[in-house]
Amino acid sequence: MIDKYGREITYLRISVTDRCNFRCVYCMPEEGVPPKPHASILRYEEITRIARLAISLGIRSIRVTGGEPLVRKGLGGLVAALNGLRSLGLRDLSMTTNASLLAPVAGDLKAAGLDRVNISLDTLRSDRFRSVTRGGDLTAVLEGAGAALAAGLWPVKMNVVVTRDNIDEVQDFALFGMMTGLVVRFIELMPLGCAGSIQPASFVDTAEMMERLEPDGGVAEVMGVGPGSGPARYHTWPLRSGLEPSAHAAGAIHTVRDACGGRPVGGRPGAPAGGQAGAPVGGQGMAITTPDKALVGFITSVSRHSCPGCNRLRLTADGRIAPCLWSSDEIDLGAAMRAGASDAELTRVIGAAVMAKPLECGASRDVSKRRMSRLGG
Ligand code: SAM
Ligand code: SF4
Repeated sequence: MIDKYGREITYLRISVTDRCNFRCVYCMPEEGVPPKPHASILRYEEITRIARLAISLGIRSIRVTGGEPLVRKGLGGLVAALNGLRSLGLRDLSMTTNASLLAPVAGDLKAAGLDRVNISLDTLRSDRFRSVTRGGDLTAVLEGAGAALAAGLWPVKMNVVVTRDNIDEVQDFALFGMMTGLVVRFIELMPLGCAGSIQPASFVDTAEMMERLEPDGGVAEVMGVGPGSGPARYHTWPLRSGLEPSAHAAGAIHTVRDACGGRPVGGRPGAPAGGQAGAPVGGQGMAITTPDKALVGFITSVSRHSCPGCNRLRLTADGRIAPCLWSSDEIDLGAAMRAGASDAELTRVIGAAVMAKPLECGASRDVSKRRMSRLGG
């Protein structure tokens, strides 16, 4: 699918629920958001039908997200159904999760066909974690990350939204990535939904994050666009002598390594035992987190938009296609489907959503009503 501006649309993010077991301060109000009635949420068969049609139009990567996707029952069944679409052209099946419920199901999800996971984690300090998520348990998330590594969900990326409250953890996160094999990506806080009120004061731009990472001058070696389908730009960050993780980070590293059963850092799943340490961790043949060099990503969602390279569509849990994260325009594909639309008609609706993608988000910004927990990030 090529949109009006010549961009090839290959990536579909599917939100399977608007519910979540956390209440991250920049994403959800403390009291939560009124959940959509169950009947309005797409059934797994409906999601699979939409995915099949989207793949027939050229979608090659699908990410399952939420809300928190793992709070929805039977997610493995959806993963297996989506995995069954590979012969039609699906190449990459991933999930974004807060990982608090991941540890017990990581192996089953891998067996069902999930390729990889992105885990959202903004702090390695349990007190801060409880505060930013309003009650979450850091250990469960770290164990989820370790279980993902152990299951061979690879690469495991860790998304860190950086604000004034955790900017002091940037080096710790890079060390954490280096010592666990997780690919850490730093993300700018977007002023969407309930982040709108905190974003101006909390916002930290990528330049400042890089400065924190390398106070003595630029972050080493730019890798350009890296593993995956998204807009992250990757840099390598070599270990400096004398730099040690803080006690919080050291504890977090220990928990992840314990939970992944002591699997060597940097190991690509399937590589022969003993030949793993030091092997590259990235994706699609890219560089590379090794025990002495971290691959760190930066997602400049605010200071530099990635509209020219935007390749994505989003499907909300209640069946609306959002052509652009920043725009309130949505197309109600679920309603068309439930009104009895044929595959050909639904395909036309998906094509219309692609054609509705704006050239730039700036042109259509209407951020206060855009909720990340609904749009899936
Ligand atoms: N619950 C899952 C999780 O947290 O990974 C999936 C859904 S969550 C909405 C997806 C991503 O959106 C998370 O990485 C979260 O940090 C990010 N996110 C939410 N609100 C954001 C904001 N205002 N700015 C930047 N990222 C945000
Ligand atoms: Fe839940 Fe993810 Fe939003 Fe946090 S960022 S409240 S985990 S949906």
